[in-house]
Amino acid sequence: MNFKLETNHNIVFFTGAGMSAESGVPTYRGSGGIWNEYKWEEYACESAFQKNPNHVLSFHELRRIEALKCKPHSGHLIIKKIQDKYQNTTIITQNIDGMHQRADNQNVIELHGSLWKIRCQADGKKFEDLENGPYANRYCDCGEILRPDIVWFQDMLDEKIIKKTISTISRCLLFISIGTSASVWPAAGFPKLARESGAYCIEINPEKTELSSMYDEVIREKAGKGLELFLRGLLS
Ligand code: NAD
Repeated sequence: MNFKLETNHNIVFFTGAGMSAESGVPTYRGSGGIWNEYKWEEYACESAFQKNPNHVLSFHELRRIEALKCKPHSGHLIIKKIQDKYQNTTIITQNIDGMHQRADNQNVIELHGSLWKIRCQADGKKFEDLENGPYANRYCDCGEILRPDIVWFQDMLDEKIIKKTISTISRCLLFISIGTSASVWPAAGFPKLARESGAYCIEINPEKTELSSMYDEVIREKAGKGLELFLRGLLS
């Protein structure tokens, strides 16, 4: 990095499935990806939920069980360490597994929602749902069945979350993207926004992505090792 970061500067970590893959959380695409085994049309869209809520809820319950079998890795702990020193650090994640929170990472914006939240479609109320038990048959006071607060296929993203994300990225000085192919929109546009807003941009990914050439620096490593190298550079 060719500039000195002050402790009050804004940093953004932008994470995707590759960040959690290192903890053992299955990816959705690619080899071993969940969408090879399950059809999203039957498990991850509003119309599937309307047709058979318990079928969809059981699928998400499985995702929670799988996520709980995994633990945050050294990369999550490095983010925590950086955040302790640089308090204006935000994590913008596409992951829904809550792994950042389990590593005590703060200021986490969950672009695609969370397996650990549920909401009422009728009145918009949201609830934390941290129990490791089946989420089937949970109802709102208004009588509506509650659904996972996740952005499913064909859902719109929450506008407030998008606005907060855009404003956070526009103000950051350092943008570190980890484990995302940046192929899902609008998330795919965020590295470019960071770049255009003047941030120094770093990509940590063992593989080249379509956006790799846009970054100021590329660390061709997995998340844990990549973050270790990044931290070394930051402290030197
Ligand atoms: P993606 O599957 O499109 O891309 C994953 C990227 O991670 C790839 O570029 C790959 O090279 C990289 N990668 C693989 N292993 C890595 C490692 N150990 N360290 C660093 N990078 C590694 O993922 P995406 O861009 O996040 O998009 C997938 C969508 O699916 C997202 O919208 C997300 O909401 C959802 N999803 C969430 C989870 C989760 O919550 N854990 C898991 C899978 C998918």
